[in-house]
Amino acid sequence: MGNEIRISQAIRTFGTGSIVDFPDLSLMMISPDEQEFSWGFDESSNGFDKNIVKDERLQNLLGVDFFVLPPSKTNKYVGLKALQFPGNCYCPDCRTIYNINHLISNYPHYYKIVIEKRSGAWFCVSCFEKNGTKYTLIPSRFIIATEYGLIDDFPYDWYCHKNEKYRPNRIEGGDGKCAISRNHSHLKLEFEGASLSDIYVKCKVCSARESLGPIFDLDNPVLMLPLNYLWNRNGMLSAPWKGINYKTHEFYKETVYAPPNLKEYLKGAIKKEEKDVMKKYFPRVLQRGAGNVFFPVNYIGFVLPKNFYTQSKEKPSGKEFNKFIDVLILINKGNIEEQPNTLLEKCKIILSLPKEIINSTCIGAGINQEDFFQYIEINSEENKSFLIEKNEKSRYDEFKCFTSKIENLTKNDWFKNEIKDVNTSNYPELNKFLNKVVLLHKLKQLNIQKGFTRVRP
Ligand SMILES: [Zn+2]
Ligand SMILES: [Zn+2]
Repeated sequence: MGNEIRISQAIRTFGTGSIVDFPDLSLMMISPDEQEFSWGFDESSNGFDKNIVKDERLQNLLGVDFFVLPPSKTNKYVGLKALQFPGNCYCPDCRTIYNINHLISNYPHYYKIVIEKRSGAWFCVSCFEKNGTKYTLIPSRFIIATEYGLIDDFPYDWYCHKNEKYRPNRIEGGDGKCAISRNHSHLKLEFEGASLSDIYVKCKVCSARESLGPIFDLDNPVLMLPLNYLWNRNGMLSAPWKGINYKTHEFYKETVYAPPNLKEYLKGAIKKEEKDVMKKYFPRVLQRGAGNVFFPVNYIGFVLPKNFYTQSKEKPSGKEFNKFIDVLILINKGNIEEQPNTLLEKCKIILSLPKEIINSTCIGAGINQEDFFQYIEINSEENKSFLIEKNEKSRYDEFKCFTSKIENLTKNDWFKNEIKDVNTSNYPELNKFLNKVVLLHKLKQLNIQKGFTRVRP
């Protein structure tokens, strides 16, 4: 199925990680980095060159090597990709709950029909096999997500079997016998009225039954108490925008973030007293739709002409250090328990390594040790004040560039400014504010999707 969207929408409404509702389908946009062929391939199956935008100043500011334009659709293989999220859905007739990823692996012959004839919309397999009717499945309204972005299906099986006597039947934390005996279509929804507490999830095998009434209760989070759901997930949740494992048909998973002193609680029992401090890091139940689970974090920067740096001696730095940090981590991989993802985590890990190791590696690489430690210390500060400073400095650079006369602009510099004196004698009240007026005839603006958050703080 193909849909056209504008390039600016690719980082806002349809940005990586967003959930998009199409008729009969709920989709999550995948990061274009997930599959190299998102950008297409030529006859010899080489990935097309990505449309890369380089700007050293903005690269350093955001700690990346380059920027890349979203792939634009040139044939049916090229373009932004999406996958079905949530995976949970139910039949409008018999109310059986299914998971799309299980349907794909259990019914490959129907999957072909779903893709070729139904634009990816699944039908109720049980009703079809009973009476030949293809009821289109309805995506689940409930999902779970953390503030830091991980998101997953609401764990119907785990929740339905939450009563002590049914817990051994759980898929996560039990032997999963109810699911196995019915090919993962063992659960159904029962609607007894209009309110949430009138909706029940029921196991057709063992008859466990729970009302969905308490799922939004923030005082007694159902995923935390009486048992910790993440305990049964090894502290991990899905990151569907990173794609799917084609062998297991499961979403790509990541460890849920919690500060180092609280990390152990993610994988163990949580006491009532710890409940409040853990809430911030724990997944909570949310309603899908109405755009309430995706807030893109975008940065708008201007591409400044190369000569601005030579003229003003503004030297970009930090890029070499970033690369060196990765090398250091790679060398010490065996000694590091958990592989870090962010610059903050990396810097913290490096500070925990013996100083001699870092010093000798610095000498070997010809890196100034003092500068390096300073860089690490600044970047390992949790409060991020450094980044704010960096951001303000970056805005000041833009201001300085706009208000300076830039010599020797080349064809590659998409920049042209004109500085004019203003005669404000007729407007004395403006005098104290205006000195000059700058006309920007040519300016290149980069809209960058840095990331996103799920739960508005
Ligand atoms: Zn059905
Ligand atoms: Zn059961």
